[in-house]
Amino acid sequence: MQEIIRVRDIVEILEQWAPKKYAYDWDNVGLQIGSLESKVNKVLLTLDVLENVVDEAIENEVNLIIAHHPLLFKALKQINTDDAAGRIINKLLKHDITVYAAHTNLDVIDGGVSDMLSDRLEIINREVLVPSEHGKAIGAGRVGELKETISLNDFCLRVKEKLEIPTLRVVGELNKKVRKIAVLGGSGEDFINQAKQMGADVYVTGDMTFHEAQDAMAMGLAVVDPGHHVEKVMIQGIKTYLEMKTIEKSLELTFIASSQDTEPFQFL
Ligand SMILES: [Zn+2]
Repeated sequence: MQEIIRVRDIVEILEQWAPKKYAYDWDNVGLQIGSLESKVNKVLLTLDVLENVVDEAIENEVNLIIAHHPLLFKALKQINTDDAAGRIINKLLKHDITVYAAHTNLDVIDGGVSDMLSDRLEIINREVLVPSEHGKAIGAGRVGELKETISLNDFCLRVKEKLEIPTLRVVGELNKKVRKIAVLGGSGEDFINQAKQMGADVYVTGDMTFHEAQDAMAMGLAVVDPGHHVEKVMIQGIKTYLEMKTIEKSLELTFIASSQDTEPFQFL
């Protein structure tokens, strides 16, 4: 008989790789809603927990959603089931779906989101961009090299192809030759100085803001902003890891990569 698998069993496996203590203080990782004791046989993996993702979980009779971005971040003062945030909580509780978030703890680890993005972009000889108190090998972002020197323009084409995005924003001279690349998936605009100091020719990061882009331009650092949604690479990354570990332990679980779009932007 198949043994009962609980949320805590899967969380334990995930936290061996991405311990909660590695998350930034401002973050809110771990259990978001539901129970560690709930029984699980289907797990949905997603970047964000939006209402379309919750509906997908319900349709697929999923018991656990593992997300990158925390469902609960700012303090809730009210749960009003007439708005989206309230409806999401209501649907999750009604359908006994637990939500767990692995956010900055998943960003900083070896093989985490920064490495997943760097792998896609074929960046080698990598170091951590912003080392943490947990050691030099653990921290936000990566800096490494392309196998060959290419133009910024060709690098942008590679980013679009490898990260499967229709468009991106770029700062810098497109004919400039580049090789050393810094990568930080989410909002990395605070770390342009680190990228420059570590000798990066290009800094790839989502949510680059206007004035920081001007600062980067002034210091001769090219910037490629492919959008925050490229962090969706974590879906396949977590899926591969959990499938491998649960097969090792002979746990019968189904992992589903969310097919729902959580990109808020359209590109015209
Ligand atoms: Zn993010």
